[in-house]
Amino acid sequence: MTPTDVTHVMTTNFYAPPSAIRAGRVVLPEDEARHLRTVLRGKQGDQMTVVDGHGGWYRARIDHVGDEQVVGTIVERRHNVGEPAIDATVALGLLKKRTRFETFVEKAVELGVRRIVPLRTSRAERASIREERLRNVMVAAMKQCRRSRLPALAAPQSTADLLAESGGDVRLVCHAGDASVPIQRAMGQAGPAASALVLVGPEGGFAPPEVEAARANGCAPVSLGPRRLRAETAGLAALHAVVDAHQNG
Ligand code: SAM
Repeated sequence: MTPTDVTHVMTTNFYAPPSAIRAGRVVLPEDEARHLRTVLRGKQGDQMTVVDGHGGWYRARIDHVGDEQVVGTIVERRHNVGEPAIDATVALGLLKKRTRFETFVEKAVELGVRRIVPLRTSRAERASIREERLRNVMVAAMKQCRRSRLPALAAPQSTADLLAESGGDVRLVCHAGDASVPIQRAMGQAGPAASALVLVGPEGGFAPPEVEAARANGCAPVSLGPRRLRAETAGLAALHAVVDAHQNG
């Protein structure tokens, strides 16, 4: 075999929805195709890795690189590549600075969150999100960290609605109070769990009735340590503790 016979596998992951993956072939959406062609200089014969956001992972040989389309033949398929064992939902109070919420979203995808819920709390200083912008951040993060699932982004909702509608084998509210136990201890005591729901307050924290409502609805109050963390840092620290307690190796 000469050096020119070695197949070039592109290191960047690409995203294509399940509808673009059929009969052993994958067709990249226009923006992904353009990126492959103009930025990464992908060529016919190279191999690319494509994820569908639903757990599908594909290695495909590139058959055609057109101006607006890239088509490949699937040579290997796997499922749930890069996904943590636990289905973790983090509900974070809406933050005054949109960029801080975006940073949280990007890093939470990297750490393995399965669902993000922007929380309308009594002390939150905002009521809305830029959904499309956040979704783009999530897709980019999913590709970058080599996950195969695109986490869900819920519509902003109140703490009361979240508590009534969400499940979670383990339910936690991050709160720096006397009754709180370290989050690692709470996860250890909970034992094996398929899913977790974690609530984190906005800059101004939760109002006492919101903490009470969370406790009344099965959320254990947990501490993230002796320092008061910014809300987005708290969300990421809590997520890491939950995912870390249920690593899938
Ligand atoms: N003045 C607010 C208070 O006392 O609640 C501070 C809020 S803190 C900036 C934002 C959120 O992060 C809190 O509502 C809580 O959910 C979480 N948080 C921050 N540091 C924490 C810690 N050490 N333990 C538990 N939760 C923490």
